Amino acid sequence: MQKVTDNVYTDTTLRGCNPSVVVTSDGVVVIDPGQLPTKVVELRTFAEERGPIRFVINTEHHVDHIFGNYFFRGTGTVIANKGVDDNFMVVGPDLDPYEYAKEAVPTDDPEGAAIFPERDVYERDMNRPQVVFTGDVTLRVGEHVFELIHTPGHTPGQVAVYVPQERAVFTGDTVFSECQTWLMSSDVDGWLAALDRIAELDFDYLIPGHGPVTDKAYLEVQRSNLLDWVGAVAAAVAKGWSRRETMERVSFAERYPVDVGQGYMMNHIQTLNAAALWDKLSGTR
Ligand SMILES: [Zn+2]
Repeated sequence: MQKVTDNVYTDTTLRGCNPSVVVTSDGVVVIDPGQLPTKVVELRTFAEERGPIRFVINTEHHVDHIFGNYFFRGTGTVIANKGVDDNFMVVGPDLDPYEYAKEAVPTDDPEGAAIFPERDVYERDMNRPQVVFTGDVTLRVGEHVFELIHTPGHTPGQVAVYVPQERAVFTGDTVFSECQTWLMSSDVDGWLAALDRIAELDFDYLIPGHGPVTDKAYLEVQRSNLLDWVGAVAAAVAKGWSRRETMERVSFAERYPVDVGQGYMMNHIQTLNAAALWDKLSGTR
């Protein structure tokens, strides 16, 4: 684990999100346990060595942020916004989250196969949020305050976790630091508002959902990345490009690599982002 401050740890080297830990005088708070089985178990051990686990926070419902809850069952209280709970491991037309979690194991965590649960076992014990909230919520743990700020955009249940004592904010996937941004079914206007909301906070350390730890200035970089995508697809729509032409011709693949372990998804991300924006901006969906 990378030590960010005296009490904040994260791991930006894994496939999937950046799982993180905050140590307080009265136990530990885990933010997004991650998805790779042996890595999640290591994270749990790391956390328990520093105190009882008080809370496990999920910043969004995507599988890389929630799958590891299974390995934290029987520890701290799992807490998330209602938007996370509503979408928790819901199988969509394009993605079965259980299969997507399973798919990563042979390549990224072969030893994890031995402890990867069968689907029926997982579904029984997935450890979904026990506390579900709307809007914002504040947790007090020991001397620390955790402000869970609802920042919908990337997903409907997105939260940022602000820990003023550590001058740190965990943005979840509202920030993809120096790696490709997954727009998927995002609400980009909401996402831009989320960046504004985070910019109002007073902090030095920005722990993103993916990519290296960064700082407040990166909020503007993320904003530009979103606006560049929207601008390029809006221009394509204005020129009368079809959905297919837009998917083939609009790409920001040169700008960043894909986050750890998913380089093979580059073309998928580009075409998915372009298609999703084309659907919105052309008014056809
Ligand atoms: Zn993510």
